[in-house]
Amino acid sequence: MPETRIPMSAPDLTEAERAAVLAVLHTPHLSMGPEYLAFEQAVAERIGVRHAISVNSGTAGLHLCVRAAGIGPGDLVLTTPFSFMASSNVLLYENAVPVFVDVDPLTGNIDPALAAAASADLQTGGAAARRWLPRRGANKGAPLKALLPVDVFGQPADYDALRPAAAGLKIIEDSCEAIGAQYHGRNAGTLGDTGVFAFYPNKQMTTAEGGLIVTDDDEAATLMRALRNQGRAPGDTWLQHTYLGYNYRLDELSAALGRVQFGRLDELLAKRQRVANWYATHLEDLPEIEQPHIAASTTRMSWFVYVVRLPATRRDAVIAALEAEGIPARPYFAPIHLQPFMVERFGYQPGDFPVTEELGQRGLALPFSSVMTEEQVAEVCTALGRALT
Ligand SMILES: *Cc1c(COP(=O)(O)O)cnc(C)c1O
Repeated sequence: MPETRIPMSAPDLTEAERAAVLAVLHTPHLSMGPEYLAFEQAVAERIGVRHAISVNSGTAGLHLCVRAAGIGPGDLVLTTPFSFMASSNVLLYENAVPVFVDVDPLTGNIDPALAAAASADLQTGGAAARRWLPRRGANKGAPLKALLPVDVFGQPADYDALRPAAAGLKIIEDSCEAIGAQYHGRNAGTLGDTGVFAFYPNKQMTTAEGGLIVTDDDEAATLMRALRNQGRAPGDTWLQHTYLGYNYRLDELSAALGRVQFGRLDELLAKRQRVANWYATHLEDLPEIEQPHIAASTTRMSWFVYVVRLPATRRDAVIAALEAEGIPARPYFAPIHLQPFMVERFGYQPGDFPVTEELGQRGLALPFSSVMTEEQVAEVCTALGRALT
């Protein structure tokens, strides 16, 4: 296997990030100091929300949203299987049941018509509910509590169209791939009751590991701040724990890094847009490649990954051919419902969510980051052209 010549993803770091992290190391405050509060305040102001709550991963943030929505054992939550595993796992942590509906074939986001039908039937209960539930592992009388849309690849789901489906439900927006995106001019993360961003190093901005919840709900915010801090309610001392909580705190080094990265968000997103534009241009000559679709409702795209679609019969051979040239490429996403433990627990079978499965068989994530050069993009596209002939 040749050495990888172009990284799959890469963080975009400057001296400012290094200086900010180093400065924290000259203080005794490595956790629960001024940095995480300043980071939260900057995000709350810029995104336009009352509360920003930093956590040590996007997954932790989603889990706290699930707790704050009062989702418990057996409860049903509408979501999609075309996502990163974490958006369903956070439901399983509470022994709740993800009820999947399929996605829009163009964007990969939750299909609003299917979601509306499922929501109505599940809230009616009984026989109507059964067609949406998994073969096993769910109780048809269980209450539907929430809708969990995923803003896939940096593009918000269609929240206006989701309004009928969301009636009577909490909305948890998995915006872990979409910080900075806008839907009809509104910021991703603010399109539901609670929203979550994630900052793993391959995301648009990074804190190394980390995440952040945004919400306008005062009560939920107070609870989530307590839960991330070992269940300490306001007024609790260090050894008083009103709730069953977690250590989901973001440390000061990560927060300092995040603060600088967040201050550069417009720059980082503009650089990613430029790389996406290069791809769009260089891929024009390859008719076998289907390029990403941007919905009219997406008034600002926040490019997270660059995922193209190939004929399913050719995808894996193309990956192998690219790898032989030192260019990494990945299938993206692998359908959640077909992961081994999901099959075992809920009895899912191939064919259950055909659009998700087709996208899973055809999707190919190409190397993508804000630090990519046009020469690198051209190199990837040339190799892709060779792999397809
Ligand atoms: C990145 C991501 C998460 C959270 O990931 P962490 O690694 O826990 O920060 C959640 N959902 C989606 C869709 C993601 O892409």
